[in-house]
Amino acid sequence: MTSDPLGDFCDSGLPEFLQGSWENAKTILKLNGISRHPTDEQKYVVISLSQPIVHTIHVKPTGAIACGKECHRFKTHRICAHAISVAKTLDILDFLISHYNPNIGQAVLSAMPKESGKKPGQQTRKRKSQSARDTTGWDDIEQAQPHNDSSYYSVVFV
Ligand SMILES: [Zn+2]
Repeated sequence: MTSDPLGDFCDSGLPEFLQGSWENAKTILKLNGISRHPTDEQKYVVISLSQPIVHTIHVKPTGAIACGKECHRFKTHRICAHAISVAKTLDILDFLISHYNPNIGQAVLSAMPKESGKKPGQQTRKRKSQSARDTTGWDDIEQAQPHNDSSYYSVVFV
């Protein structure tokens, strides 16, 4: 197995918050942490990197992958390092990613700023009279001295 079994997360097309799962899936693959379930051919057992347990992954005939109910990551995001690593092992990772549909609407909604406008009764700002712009002063700015003053200073590197 190569040192980078999954490749760059940037190329996966997954949202950024899944980068941790992606990296964990790499670790699982490097550790060969995936085994077939001994009795159920639709299931795989995957080591957990955070707890001293294994997760049971159910790969349905449709290609849908479900992690065990003890996997918080899967509960929250419907995808996890275990699902990714099993999908990679079965060569259905592209399928998993293309069918992954995080609840984007909710994420966007919660990121919306609460303030939506001015307080009632607040005046719009007063418009300044549109007199010609006063540009005096611009030509008076001293030009920066060119760096030809090495005769006055010597730079000492310490
Ligand atoms: Zn999981």
